[in-house]
Amino acid sequence: MAALVDSILSLLGWKLPFKFVYSNEYWMMDIGPHVFPVRKYRLLYEGVIALGAGRGDFIEAKPVSEKDLLLVHTPKYVRKAMSGNLSSLELQALELPFSPAVLRFFMLMTGGTIQTVEEALRIGLAVHLGGGFHHAFPDHGEGFCLFNDVAVAIEKAKQEGKIERAMVVDCDLHQGNGTAYIFARKDYVFTFSIHQMDIYPSEKPPSNVDVGLWSGDADLAYLQPLLSYFPRLYEEFRPDLVVYIAGADPYRRDMLSGLDVSAAALKKRDRIVIEGARKLGIPVAVVLGGGYAAEIEETVNIHLNTIREAIRAWKKTQLAVTSLTQSE
Ligand SMILES: [Zn+2]
Repeated sequence: MAALVDSILSLLGWKLPFKFVYSNEYWMMDIGPHVFPVRKYRLLYEGVIALGAGRGDFIEAKPVSEKDLLLVHTPKYVRKAMSGNLSSLELQALELPFSPAVLRFFMLMTGGTIQTVEEALRIGLAVHLGGGFHHAFPDHGEGFCLFNDVAVAIEKAKQEGKIERAMVVDCDLHQGNGTAYIFARKDYVFTFSIHQMDIYPSEKPPSNVDVGLWSGDADLAYLQPLLSYFPRLYEEFRPDLVVYIAGADPYRRDMLSGLDVSAAALKKRDRIVIEGARKLGIPVAVVLGGGYAAEIEETVNIHLNTIREAIRAWKKTQLAVTSLTQSE
């Protein structure tokens, strides 16, 4: 009976409890042979369908407006990026070839994270099958990141009065330098980053909490600090929104990672971050971040595990959250 109900709901596009923001254009960006795995977005989309998602479970990402980019980025930088007039030094820092397709990719990704935050604030949880470009600064892009989608989405929600305070939980392998810099003097955003120390970015502007790991650090070194900070930081800061950057790149077989972290530990990490927030009734917007395993399927599987944990957390906490809001 349950299977029948599931398949009817799936046909109607209602099988999964929350929405996935995505665009088919994500994987169409042509950057030639490059470590940045554009194809993972398509494989992940297919993976979510295999989990039971129907057409109605997806929200089509729309490009960010110039006005919204200006909430974080300088007018000069936005003008240069929009007209494709980046200098060779700026392109070197970006580490991506530039083309109208690349600009379109980052406009969609930024718009997609805005939509993910809005959806999370509406129903409590949403997942962007993209996003997490945390190395972009107000006046320049770096490390495959043209625009800081997470910062733009938070500033927009704040400006529209949808939130008072937000927390960024950045579990990408690389420190969230752009996000830390952008929110350094803004006390309404708490930034947390757990990352490998002895790799890019060489300069790490301080987050509110930085957990630095070193080459060779394994599961325990990765999970212990997370367990000691969460849910404590949620309880202390009481954010109205958590943006979770669920990077797949801390993984031991990732080409950029020196850590010895297993896929199982990353799944536990997802549980600590997502379930911890949901138990307190805090909306969670999940974005992907990096992932560069030699076998792209491994990266996709780690991202799918994050989605499995999000579904599990939703089911486990939904009743508690409903009674919490009803008693308020
Ligand atoms: Zn990364």
